[in-house]
Order: sequence, then C-alpha cells, then structure tokens
Amino acid sequence: MRIDADESLAGVRTKIVATVGPASRAPEVLGKLLDAGVDVFRLNFSHGSQDDHSATLADIRRVAAERERAVGVLMDLGGPKIRLGELPGGMLSCELDAEYALVRGPGGAEGELTCTYPDLPDDLTIGDPVLFADGTVGMEVVDRSPGRAVLKVVLPGQIRSRQGINVPGSGLSLPSLTDKDLGDLDWAADHDVDFIALSFVRSGTDLARLRHELDRRNIKAKVIAKVEKPQAVDELESILALSDVVMVARGDLGVEVDVARVPAIQKRILVEAHKARVPVIIATQMLNSMERSSRPTRAEASDVFNAAVDGTDAVMLSGETAIGDFPVEAVRTMSRILAEAERPSPSPSTTAPGGPADRAGWISPITEAVVESASLACRRLDAALLVVATRSGRSALAVSMQRNRTPTIALAPSEGVARQLSLLWGVVPLILPGAGSGGDGPVDHALSWAKTKGLVSTGDRVVVLRGFFPDHPTHNTMVVREVEHTA
Ligand code: ATP
Ligand code: MG
Ligand code: MG
Repeated sequence: MRIDADESLAGVRTKIVATVGPASRAPEVLGKLLDAGVDVFRLNFSHGSQDDHSATLADIRRVAAERERAVGVLMDLGGPKIRLGELPGGMLSCELDAEYALVRGPGGAEGELTCTYPDLPDDLTIGDPVLFADGTVGMEVVDRSPGRAVLKVVLPGQIRSRQGINVPGSGLSLPSLTDKDLGDLDWAADHDVDFIALSFVRSGTDLARLRHELDRRNIKAKVIAKVEKPQAVDELESILALSDVVMVARGDLGVEVDVARVPAIQKRILVEAHKARVPVIIATQMLNSMERSSRPTRAEASDVFNAAVDGTDAVMLSGETAIGDFPVEAVRTMSRILAEAERPSPSPSTTAPGGPADRAGWISPITEAVVESASLACRRLDAALLVVATRSGRSALAVSMQRNRTPTIALAPSEGVARQLSLLWGVVPLILPGAGSGGDGPVDHALSWAKTKGLVSTGDRVVVLRGFFPDHPTHNTMVVREVEHTA
C-alpha cells in the first residue's frame, strides 16, 4: 500500500468536524485547526449572535481559500432545546445540596436561574429531575410556587450560560423549528453554508418541514438530522429517507435515553445509515477531557478509534474546540487516533448495494456497480489514485461508501459541491468547472495536480470514474490510465 504524500490531503480518511467558539474563532486558530486536520467547521446557532457567525463564516472562507481547500461549514440550528438564561459571569459552580430557584421572568436575584421556556417552572412537579449541561449536573425539584421552582443540587458541577436543560420523561412537546430557527434560516439564505443540522428530530416529518423551509428560501445546503431523542431512534428509517447526513448527537441522547443504551444505538445507526448510503457524524464528548487537559483519557482514545473502526464517516469535537484550552491539540490528537484506526487491513466492511426502497434512485444501481468494479480495479492494479468526476456529488458518495483505501480525488463542478464533499470519508474534493461532463481535460488537470502534490508519479496507475459523456448516455464509465511523463 502506497504511503500518502501529504498528510492533510489523503492522510486521514475519517473526517473531523470542529465546533467554532470563543477558543477557536480567531483566524490564526482557524488556520491551525485546518492544518491539524479539520474538514468541516460547525457553527452552533444555540450560541453567539448571527453577526458573530457571519464574521466567523467569512474568516473560515478566507482561511480555507488561502490553503486552496474545500472546507465545509455546518450550521447547527438550536431547535426546541430549553436553555439556561445568562448567568452572572457566564458560569456557576453548583455544590452538592445547594439550592437555586428557577423562575419565570427576568430573574437576576442571587440564586435565581432563568430559562428560554418561561412555562418550565410551572410545568415541573416536586421530585422531578432537572439536568443541565448534557446531564453532567443534576438537580431535583424540592419546592414549587407559581412561576418558581426550587431546585436542589444532587449531582454537582459547573453550568454555563445558555447550556441545555433536560427534564427526562417530561411530555414537553415543542415544534422542531422554533421562531429563532426560522430567523436563522433567513440568515442562511444570505450566507453560503454547506450543511444545516436540525436538532431533536423526531421523525421524517420534521425533516420534511425543514426541507420545505429551505426550498422556500432557495437554500441548497445538505440536511443533517441530529438523532438525540428516543423517538428518532424508533423512526430511523423515515429519518434516513429524508436526510443527507445523520449525526449521533450523544450529548442529549445520553440524557434522553439510558446512557447504557447509547453505544448500541450508535452502532445500529452506523449499520443502518451505511446501508442507506447516508454518511454519519459521531458527536459529543469524544475527547471531552481535552477541554482542560492536553491529553485525552484512554477511554476517549478508544471511543474515537472504535467509531472509526465501526465505519463512521466523521467524528466531531464540541466544547474541545469551542471553549477548550487545547483546541488545536484536540484536533491533532483526534487525527492521530484516526490514523491508527485506519492503519491495518481489517478495514470497515462495505455493505452490499441496496438500501431501503424509498431511497431508490439516490445512488443508481449502475453507479453502485461501476463504483464497485472501480474499487476492485484499484486493488487488483495497486492503483495509486482513484479520480471520480461527479456532478451532484452522488458518484463521490458511492465511492466513499466503498471504504476504498486508494486515495481518492473527487472532481466537483463547483465550489458548493466540493465543500459538500468535505464530509465524505476518504474523499479529497477538487474544484474543477466542467468536471462532470466528460472529456479528458479535467482528468488531465487532476492528474497533474495530484502529481504536484506528490500523490502520483510517472508510471503509476490511476483509476478514473466519469459520469455522463455528451455522446454516450451512460451513467458511469471506468477508465484505467497510467500517469505519463507530461501529466
Ligand atoms: P448542542 O446541544 O447543540 O451540542 P451545546 O450547548 O452542547 O449545544 P456545543 O456546540 O456542544 O454546545 O459546544 C459546547 C459549549 O461551547 C457550549 O455549551 C457553549 O458553552 C460553548 N460554545 C459553543 N459555541 C459557542 C459560540 N459560538 N459562542 C460562545 N460559546 C460557544
Ligand atoms: Mg453539545
Ligand atoms: Mg444537542
């Protein structure tokens, strides 16, 4: 097996998503994160203002352009999560048995907490557990009066402004797109993001609603379903049918269902999504201790490693890069663990072509078959490179799902398509206008690019997959080339 020339190009195949926050939004840090291995940046619209995000987006685009890289930007909509209001000083250390009052209205007095759902204090009853910060801090309702619920700390820890509040088992049912989300989608209509994630998805219906709102605004971003509610786990099939990507959002998932079930749910989603040809992001707490430590725990290293071995497309960092003390180190560490996971042969198995019937046409059986033969050709010929020309990105997705170890360049006809490929396992996007429409020009260009990057040298075999040719109404064509002197 060939050693990849440039680490950042085809070195690590599992993609890294990093959340941008106060610890990482400076352009120098964004650049370092890219160099350390970030493929996609996540902007969490639960935090920060639209103006903050506009500035960060512009910085990301600039820093990526300097590096000539197609970097994806993921907009994460807040959704109907109940959140804490502002805390004086931004954070609060909750000691065991301390009492706080959750109040409707402005709050502000010593020991008072507010939240984004004003009815919450009245909806609670004595004995209810109330969890904060993905369940890392726990309180219990010990007293009630109109507009006020007194909470006693049972699981001590630190909470921060605008962190999530969960009331497990409560029947609180809010719409999956809030007024704030709709306003944020208006922002997205004027800002070019590549992925939009919907929180607290319950079924395909929630995604249909989002798609409708995207269509109305002519937004072309790919849709990511965050699986974090028990209903979503039960409705996986309808969710997969309507999402471009799914995220296993373990933060809220581990509060909404017994944490003991989370690993099994993660594995099941990986299997089902791979069958349906839907890429997966595993998110939350992957290197959690690296928020405050320059090294991960053994358990965290195993978590990242196992997610890669189980075939995830991408892994995500949240607080580690948003508010952590070691954002760049966290990405480097993640990258190193992924490289280890990808090293030896028992590579994640590929699934037989197929998938749910209601996704038929998503990747055509002809594309699947040609892509499978291309993978076989790569192995038989010990190809140095696979080049796939893709118009919609679908052929590149099909290649990615083969989990081919041959370094793969996807030629995309536009920057938008290239950036949406940033999330796909093993795929290096390259923008080449006209790439999907046949002819040798784009492929020659890709080969000379690969040559300058040290990915191929004269005499190497390259497998080329192309879509549509003007005079041949076929789906895909496979060609094997040898890199020539001049290429
Ligand atoms: P979610 O449920 O959507 O993951 P979260 O509150 O867990 O929401 P993360 O994106 O996981 O948020 O980020 C972890 C922490 O980083 C947040 O709780 C918040 O304190 C901080 N954070 C993230 N993005 C920002 C931002 N843009 N501005 C300020 N703080 C941020
Ligand atoms: Mg989170
Ligand atoms: Mg969440």
